[in-house]
Amino acid sequence: MSGVIPDHNIQMVDLKGQYTKIKEQIDTAIMDVIDSTAFIKGPEVKAFQEELENYLDVKHVIPCGNGTDALQIALMALGLKPGDEVVTTDFTFAATVEVIGLMNLVPVFVDVDRDTFNIDVNELKKAITPKTKAIIPVHLFGQCANMEAVMEIANDNNLYVVEDTAQAIGADYTFSNGKVQKAGTIGNIGTTSFFPSKNLGCYGDGGALFTNDSELAKRLGAIVNHGMYERYYHDEIGVNSRLDAIQAAILRVKLGHLDEYGLARKRAAKYYNEAFSEVVQLEIPVIDEKTTHVFHQYTLKTKDVNRTELIDFLKGRGIPAMIYYPVPLHRQKAYIRPEFKDENYPITMELCKSVISLPMHTELDNNQLKYITESVKEFFNK
Ligand SMILES: *Cc1c(COP(=O)(O)O)cnc(C)c1O
Repeated sequence: MSGVIPDHNIQMVDLKGQYTKIKEQIDTAIMDVIDSTAFIKGPEVKAFQEELENYLDVKHVIPCGNGTDALQIALMALGLKPGDEVVTTDFTFAATVEVIGLMNLVPVFVDVDRDTFNIDVNELKKAITPKTKAIIPVHLFGQCANMEAVMEIANDNNLYVVEDTAQAIGADYTFSNGKVQKAGTIGNIGTTSFFPSKNLGCYGDGGALFTNDSELAKRLGAIVNHGMYERYYHDEIGVNSRLDAIQAAILRVKLGHLDEYGLARKRAAKYYNEAFSEVVQLEIPVIDEKTTHVFHQYTLKTKDVNRTELIDFLKGRGIPAMIYYPVPLHRQKAYIRPEFKDENYPITMELCKSVISLPMHTELDNNQLKYITESVKEFFNK
């Protein structure tokens, strides 16, 4: 490659390219909502809710304002009390633990499995105390946590399970008895985010909760709406967290493309995997055989690589790359406690120092993938 950077317009997530292909459908959907002036609640939200219930094969979907609200509302509905312990992973986006803190619950962090980046179930077992009330497994980067083991541990110890599905909507999990369930529909409650860059993203903020428990569904539906079971009768303190109708209309269009988008992501991941399988400084993603991977992120582990140099090199070629996540949660100022010891989180510590995520979205074409993979290889062959 000469000194000229070819203009591939590569982004971590190409929302514009995706929109351009479905512009007519989206524009019509938005205009129809404006025309109806049913901006809050109304038929679009109801229709999306039902379509998502069908897609996920879950009894109840409760739309809400965003993925962080969804997590908080889940914890509210489970009736957890200040001081109760909630176990989650040390390696995730901060929203997962933020809501635990907001509810005056006690976050307990567990290290992750080095292969899957998801909660290490042996460490999870060790973290349970008489005060533990719930587990929040996160399906990180697009594949499911070890839900069979998580559910077993939860059942043995009478714990609730809230699945953070913000990064894995559409992923399938297969139990050893052959039963297949969608991510987010296995625990007591599943939560997700429709943030624009998520696999099912809207054009603003949005989120949802999933459950097969009709009692819980009723409570979740009331909490998102000021604790109202009956209009203007407030039986408990709730929040105001709504998915608006324009976002629901956009999501209805995009839900129709979700599986095809998943295939596009998988195809890009396969291209990357083939290109990088021989690069000794890189470890390609490992997929647990019990789960499908919807590749919210394509994340490599580097070995003896100066990541800053690699990221700068790629940036110089017009290729973005990101580190998800650079700091373990147990080291974040907001959550730090004297009892958190680095030596209890060796895998998370290692991953924070070694992972790198490459562009991953539905619009990556072979020219872009070739350019990205050749650029990465060139860095190692310098
Ligand atoms: C994005 C994300 C959230 C939060 O979703 P928002 O809609 O941005 O509030 C929570 N958990 C995980 C794992 C996420 O990736």
